[in-house]
Amino acid sequence: MNYTCSNCGGSFDVPETVSVVTCPYCGLTVNIKVGKLDFEHYFYPAIYDAQTAYGRLKSILSRQFGVPKGFSDQINLMGRVLHYIPLYLFYVEGRSKGGQEVLEVEYVALPALKMLPVPIPQGYSFPVRGKIYFKPQIVKDAKFYSPTVSIDDLEKIARARVYNRFSRELDLAGRGLEAKIESRCEGLVHYPIWEFRYSYLNYQFNGFVDAVNGEVLYGQYLVSTMHRTISMSLGVGLIFAGAIIGLISGLALSAPLIGLIGGVPPAFAGAIPLFMRGAYKVQTYTLKVFGTYEREASLGKEIIEAVKFIGRIPI
Ligand SMILES: [Zn+2]
Repeated sequence: MNYTCSNCGGSFDVPETVSVVTCPYCGLTVNIKVGKLDFEHYFYPAIYDAQTAYGRLKSILSRQFGVPKGFSDQINLMGRVLHYIPLYLFYVEGRSKGGQEVLEVEYVALPALKMLPVPIPQGYSFPVRGKIYFKPQIVKDAKFYSPTVSIDDLEKIARARVYNRFSRELDLAGRGLEAKIESRCEGLVHYPIWEFRYSYLNYQFNGFVDAVNGEVLYGQYLVSTMHRTISMSLGVGLIFAGAIIGLISGLALSAPLIGLIGGVPPAFAGAIPLFMRGAYKVQTYTLKVFGTYEREASLGKEIIEAVKFIGRIPI
């Protein structure tokens, strides 16, 4: 179905199943069934401008193991895009059932896209403070995305996140209390993430930086030939050592062949990551998030299904 934006006049396709849509050109968000928006729409201004965000990316890349000297000074910036990702914001409240009441209140923001155009680590915590009411006039030259995941599916994840943490706390308190969860959707938030495309020699890379807190989410870089050679030699050395150890233990049992067979495969398995590192010149930095993401799936099948929605487009 084709839809024309009432703010900027841009027209775009809308899936039949979705009711809340965002104009990709100006970011105006409406419920097309009601004709306006029946909840709040916020956005985060980009605190980190393109230059500062790119500086953060270069600084992370220059500190990676095996990156050529001067890599971050010699890369050429080829293009940049400010992606505005839709997040649904949920207010979630946990209460204990029975006994003395324990209360926990939390805001949870989750991406509302089935396929993310940017590599957001699973379990990444988006800030909930600092958002402002959306006005299409203030946003220029950014790419907006319309939500593609239903509010209900995301709300299950938000509830599960709080439920798990809260019920663990209640368990620790050890009074046999049960968690009861209340929640509501507080609105849609568009969240800015920078994408940079850059080149070095004949290679092209991309990197992503959170435009609100300056966190580098993802970045590709080159690993120098010398480092690759070292990795390769380590791999060969590991297999060789495995063969020797296998042979020695085999000789001790007067069955050298069996020893050899026993020694090589585990050494080979150990060497594979080293070979992989050696065989590819392009390496990737990704932000590590230590969260409780896996445990969120423990609440039920429908939540696992909802979590599965949040894949990402391979880069
Ligand atoms: Zn528009």
